[in-house]
Amino acid sequence: MVHFVGAGPGAPDLITLRGKRLLEEADVIIYAGSLVNPQLLDYAKEGCSIYNSAEMTLEEVLAVMRQAEQDGKTTVRLHTGDPCIYGAIREQMDALDEDQILYDSCPGVSSFCGAAAALDLEYTLPEISQSVIITRMAGRTPVPDKESIESFAAHRATMVVFLSTSMLEELSERLIAGGYKEDTPAAIVYKATWEDEQTHICTVGTLAQTAKEHHITKTALMIIGDAVSSNSYERSKLYHPEFTTEFRVGKER
Ligand code: SAH
Repeated sequence: MVHFVGAGPGAPDLITLRGKRLLEEADVIIYAGSLVNPQLLDYAKEGCSIYNSAEMTLEEVLAVMRQAEQDGKTTVRLHTGDPCIYGAIREQMDALDEDQILYDSCPGVSSFCGAAAALDLEYTLPEISQSVIITRMAGRTPVPDKESIESFAAHRATMVVFLSTSMLEELSERLIAGGYKEDTPAAIVYKATWEDEQTHICTVGTLAQTAKEHHITKTALMIIGDAVSSNSYERSKLYHPEFTTEFRVGKER
């Protein structure tokens, strides 16, 4: 059996209890070494075989999983954040299906949640934005044309941009071309929840300059939208004294 496990954004105590138990029980761990905190490997039992997938191809990862299965061993495939976001898990699962190897998934705290925590931020502020767009710039890995940064920027919803730290000038240009004003609040969160985490509030127009000033070239998220620093949001209806819910009768004004 193979367990796909979310490692969380960085801090080793941000893995789920289930994820930790699966790590403790695993005979084989294949971890995404470019981003997973290696301290998580301390949870592995003695004799566990550990592989760093940053140095492996999909075929090599699958070969390790198949061998483990033949030997009756349990494998944990440890992905950074939550495996469902840019985890390249589907291709692994399809191959396991072909080989009739059983697998399941254990969620993790995605880095976009870790970044919000680092900034004490609510992405979905009433009357400011009720949506979060998770996307990336096209780089060596393409993004479908229908998902251009410009088209998403037109919504002026909260946007979290992954995998794009080296392309911030172009990101700014395209955000502005799509409809965000240059002075729209933005933030760069570097290594959210790691010990060397950095948070920088800036604007859409100063993303590249801010990253350059702080020598940030990778492992960062860009957060864009008024939710980053607006004070003009509406209070929530859910907790308003006059609002009736399933659990509480509102008082008349
Ligand atoms: N599955 C992961 C994302 C993997 S893609 C998740 O759910 O978070 C890798 C990208 O995620 C990085 O290029 C960076 O943009 C972002 N990332 C991962 N960990 C991060 C962290 N701790 N802080 C900021 N960005 C992070």
